[in-house]
Amino acid sequence: MKRFLLLAASLTLPSPAAAAPLSDAIHADMPQLMALYRDLHAHPELSMQEIRTPALLAPQLRKLGFVVTEHVGKTGAVAVMKNGPGPVLMLRADMDALPVKENTGLPFASTVIGKLRDGTPTPVMHACGHDTHLASFMGTARRLAAMKDQWSGTLVMLLQSGEETGEGAKAMLDDGLYTRFPKPGTVFAFHDSAMLPAGVIGVTPGYTTANVDSVDILVRGVGGHGAVPQATKDPIVLASRIVLTLQTLISREKNPLDPAVVTVGSFQGGTKNNVIPDDVKLQLTVRSYKPEVRKLLLDGIARIARGEAIAAGVPDDRMPVVTVLANQATPATFNTEKLANHALDLFKSHFGADRTTILPPLMVGEDVGRYWLDDPSVEGTLFWVGGVPRAKWDAVGGDTTKLPSLHSALWAPDAETVIATATEAMTIAALDTLKKS
Ligand SMILES: [Zn+2]
Ligand SMILES: [Zn+2]
Repeated sequence: MKRFLLLAASLTLPSPAAAAPLSDAIHADMPQLMALYRDLHAHPELSMQEIRTPALLAPQLRKLGFVVTEHVGKTGAVAVMKNGPGPVLMLRADMDALPVKENTGLPFASTVIGKLRDGTPTPVMHACGHDTHLASFMGTARRLAAMKDQWSGTLVMLLQSGEETGEGAKAMLDDGLYTRFPKPGTVFAFHDSAMLPAGVIGVTPGYTTANVDSVDILVRGVGGHGAVPQATKDPIVLASRIVLTLQTLISREKNPLDPAVVTVGSFQGGTKNNVIPDDVKLQLTVRSYKPEVRKLLLDGIARIARGEAIAAGVPDDRMPVVTVLANQATPATFNTEKLANHALDLFKSHFGADRTTILPPLMVGEDVGRYWLDDPSVEGTLFWVGGVPRAKWDAVGGDTTKLPSLHSALWAPDAETVIATATEAMTIAALDTLKKS
């Protein structure tokens, strides 16, 4: 391990200054972390196609003294630092970008063209800010390697593939994350936020992100001439009824105190004014928190589709085909309450009450919750680090509906503040979890 630290010190970068106060040490690292951020931002990679990113970071982690295993869960990497007796802590950063054409105007904006799974070329952008996650991840690794005398235990740092598609966490777990590597008792991750001003930390005890399910409905009718409807079973009228009745799942069937969303995002059918088509394709996104609400919605969608088809007189062999796309499902992330509340207190005492807040849950998806889902021996928390540049925040009085959101072609966080804040937050959370007894 000593050899690795010597190597780290011999880099051209400023060497870790363990004795200095944490924020000073991070400040000294910032030029290097920002250079890394800009490099990652200019070289985004699509989900499960992360090749360059782990290849760039793995050697840097090795130089800091981590034992790094690449190609876990296809393109993920696991970096382990054993540092005496104590708990196992896992910190996770996601690596993937999105098929979005960047329009931020940043001097280091991405011009990368990637390929969708079907081979279609697409512009690629770090529109979700995972590049800030990665730079903070390296900042945290650097700090914790430099401060090894101040903690005891095992640190597992995870570079995760495919978050945006909900595949990565599952792929890493399926590839033996918890059997080939030390299994954590505690997991932390953070996400940059377009809902908070730069440098403010948000924590949501309990559910923080939602169950995300994608459902396809093939609504089948009997096509024919547009002037002879009596000889057809019109799938456009039927699909329209299904769309409307689906909304009663939200308004009439579930408990109003349980949040949920059923959105029909795509309605495709027909070719011409005077032709009643044979079928219509609907594509839905379904969001919920509690497993029982998720089940109610998915069961209800199948029941309503079939029920409306029966009401329309569709023959038995033309009933709708409802497909829940299991490989695109992301389970809700539930921040275990003891850990989340503890983190909230920790951040409040370190950063001050004006930089720490409780955020309401969001209906977006994040697969990090898989690392502790259904396993009471693992506690986990995903927290948010505000990225909205202060001037922009002030200009709209904090009304974030007037500003770019995550996944927007215009999302340009105040990366320097996000990275510095997240590095500090992750480092103090790690030191707290792995404190010497
Ligand atoms: Zn995203
Ligand atoms: Zn994201």
